[in-house]
Amino acid sequence: MLLKDEASASKTISLKHRLILLLTVMILPFVAFFFFKAADTRDRFEGEYQRSSLTLALEVARDVNEYINSTGDLLIPIANNNEVRTQNYPAVQEFLKGIWPNYKYYSNITFVDVNGDIQAAGRPPAPNANPDEAGKKVNVSDTPYYQRAMNSEGISIGDFMLGKLSGNPVVHITYPVFDYTGQRVGFVAAAFDLTRVQNRLLRANLPKHTVVAVLDASGIMLARNIEPAKWAGKNFYKEMGFKNMLGKPDGVGKVRSSDDTTRVFAFAALERVPWYVRVGVDNDFIEAQARKELVDHFVVFVPLLLVAIFGWIWIGRDVDRFHKKTERLGLLDPLTELWNYRKLNQDLDLEISRARRKKEKLSFAMIDIDNFKHYNDANGHQQGDEALKQVAYIISQATRDTDSVYRYGGEEMCVLFRDADKAGAMAVSERIRKDIEEALFAGEQEQPLGKLTISIGVATYPNDTVSKDGLIKCADVGLYRAKELGRNRLEDYSAQGFTAEDNDSHYLSNCS
Ligand code: GH3
Ligand code: MG
Ligand code: MG
Repeated sequence: MLLKDEASASKTISLKHRLILLLTVMILPFVAFFFFKAADTRDRFEGEYQRSSLTLALEVARDVNEYINSTGDLLIPIANNNEVRTQNYPAVQEFLKGIWPNYKYYSNITFVDVNGDIQAAGRPPAPNANPDEAGKKVNVSDTPYYQRAMNSEGISIGDFMLGKLSGNPVVHITYPVFDYTGQRVGFVAAAFDLTRVQNRLLRANLPKHTVVAVLDASGIMLARNIEPAKWAGKNFYKEMGFKNMLGKPDGVGKVRSSDDTTRVFAFAALERVPWYVRVGVDNDFIEAQARKELVDHFVVFVPLLLVAIFGWIWIGRDVDRFHKKTERLGLLDPLTELWNYRKLNQDLDLEISRARRKKEKLSFAMIDIDNFKHYNDANGHQQGDEALKQVAYIISQATRDTDSVYRYGGEEMCVLFRDADKAGAMAVSERIRKDIEEALFAGEQEQPLGKLTISIGVATYPNDTVSKDGLIKCADVGLYRAKELGRNRLEDYSAQGFTAEDNDSHYLSNCS
């Protein structure tokens, strides 16, 4: 290989820059898109679950409304019954006993007088009731339902409580009773068993990440599809988001619940009672769903992106290589495969400034084939070309890896000796001269000296000159001198007896 160095600076984008470009143009937008897509997917899932939760909440609310309305339908005729209005308690007792077994969702149906005493009840007393208590009136004047019933002209509803007679979780639905003079004499009450609502919630048959609950306006949980025993009767008034439901017909939101689970929820209010049906879906579940969809998308997308990126880098590398190759070809001499004159100029500029900076020496040899016109004439131009190639090859072999060899033009070649003083450059130049002298060239015996030879002139920076042109011209002066002194020899520009004074002033003026 004739080429000694590869100091060509590529003008295409370096790998480092390509990676930076890759990061900014492809990866960053991709990452941004990923986060946008992730947020968008999560929002979409959240919206979908809120919509389906709202549908369910409205359905449950409609059914519970129906329970309340049907309870009203039952209570109104009782309140208007003659025995009830005339407060014929034994008859009322019999009447209620007769109808109560037909309504399994009422823990009891009672008549309560204005003092709060239960005067008649459809449900028989519990078999294990304390005999001392038997016959004693149960008083409910301390309950919210009593307070509300006594102030209501129509259906009213009490708070969650455990029925005083049944012990079941109930709310009392009441209707006022007036005698024939229009005087309020008490009210009839149906102890509505919340297991009915509970059963309605269970009937929805929901997955475990969906919680549906019914709450009253004071925040008491009346029923819940999951772990009802643990949560029913508890107060959620302080829970974030509860108060947002108050007074609204329906809505959606997101809240961290008392069981430490964040839920996306929707709610619907009931019509005739201040109750709310709330359906919440575990936020972790929603995020897991969103993640799954995201992964499914990117499982397809990421490999495509990677193929595109690697393809881009790969093509870029080939373009780089191609560019370097063409750039190098532009600096090579096609016949000898030595560097050309253009490269010599680039290198000399570079090396002189480097030598100046590092305070190093730099030597330069100008080589010319002796009587080459004669060789051409004797052997033909084509054989001349072969000899030129052979000379170039021998010079390249004789120089160090740090040196560069150039074809200066015609049959002139030159060598740049990096970090070499005059003595070093002279030694290598002498080896070159000798190698050529000893080499066999076809038809060289016809040459004036009996063989093909070269003459060499050597100059050194900064001893002889400090400029690029000076270096070439000083070496040329040395070469001229070598020719003068008989050829097949080398001459140091600054050799004794060859000074600025006794040489061609044209050359010398340019050498320093
Ligand atoms: P000297 O240098 O020893 O003074 O004699 P010379 O005959 O070599 O000098 P001159 O400069 O007169 O001739 C150089 C010749 O080199 C002229 C030309 O025919 C030959 N030459 C230059 N370039 C090429 C080339 O590319 N191929 C061939 N075959 N010959 C070339
Ligand atoms: Mg010449
Ligand atoms: Mg010549």
